[in-house]
Amino acid sequence: MWERVSGASRIGIAGHIRPDGDCIGSCLALYNYITENYSCEVDVYVEEVPENLAMLRNSDEINTVYPDVAPYDIFFALDCADRERLGKAEKYAKKADFLYCIDHHETNPGYGTENHILPGAAATAEVLFDLMEPAKISRFTAECLYLGIVHDTGVFKHSNTTRHTMEAAGALLEYGVNTADIIDGSFYEKTFIQNQILGRCLMESLLCMDGQVIISYIDRKVQALYGLSASDTDGVIDQLRVTKGVEVAILLKEMNPRVWRVSTRSRNTVNLADICSKFGGGGHARAAGCTLNGSVHDVINTLTREIEAQLGTCSDN
Ligand code: 5GP
Ligand code: MN
Repeated sequence: MWERVSGASRIGIAGHIRPDGDCIGSCLALYNYITENYSCEVDVYVEEVPENLAMLRNSDEINTVYPDVAPYDIFFALDCADRERLGKAEKYAKKADFLYCIDHHETNPGYGTENHILPGAAATAEVLFDLMEPAKISRFTAECLYLGIVHDTGVFKHSNTTRHTMEAAGALLEYGVNTADIIDGSFYEKTFIQNQILGRCLMESLLCMDGQVIISYIDRKVQALYGLSASDTDGVIDQLRVTKGVEVAILLKEMNPRVWRVSTRSRNTVNLADICSKFGGGGHARAAGCTLNGSVHDVINTLTREIEAQLGTCSDN
């Protein structure tokens, strides 16, 4: 891969729509790594940079507009389970001479010219770390990779955290990463509005299926009332998930009238990648998403029916 990079003159990088920590961390890690070690021109594209992630080196180099440019010699799709999730950057991926797909989603079909998809990795940043040459990683690149791992593992606590994840994170510490700044500054710290919306979502959450499923939703009226941006609800689903007795947590966000963005998390048994894939979404077994249409009750019924089917199967075994 690096041989091809060294022979390229123009490279593009993009992550998925509604970018999270792993997405931005991976994109900037690769941007920093290539610009620091190779002499090609690199453009990096992401829909928006959430405020808590702007601490990363060269976050101000990210393009949030997508001009029509000549095809890239190489394009990297990072943390993108399917090509459509590149959003407006999909056009670059389609036209590029060579497309690398680097990801860790089990539902990724492998749409690159060359694919590095490791469903066993906790984060795309972990996959990238394995691909990079240790001597070429700077502190700035290490910070981006570390942040990506921190975010996708919920600070090393989700079940996707393996020995290898910890070893990668441990190796990254040796580059001088300030872990407290990254963990507190980008993950735990919340704005006043983010805390308010968290409180509201928890207060209005409802339990169903004998307390095995917890659901909360944010309609467009509430989003407008608080002036929410896309990433302001990050973390809400994690707090719902740790409710005692709950197997599945669901957060619904109304994007357009009767169009709901679905975020799901499970704790032990329910495979959410399977469920969300049925509705055109995807993700991981314990964290997945999709978009569903209808009233909030239609959406809840659709999802709980699928969860019930899986839990029914589990208890029969
Ligand atoms: P989140 O709930 O944080 O938005 O997403 C959870 C996980 O599922 C993330 O790894 C995310 O990339 C993936 N995911 C969320 N929505 C979709 C979707 O519509 N399609 C696919 N393929 N993956 C998704
Ligand atoms: Mn990821």
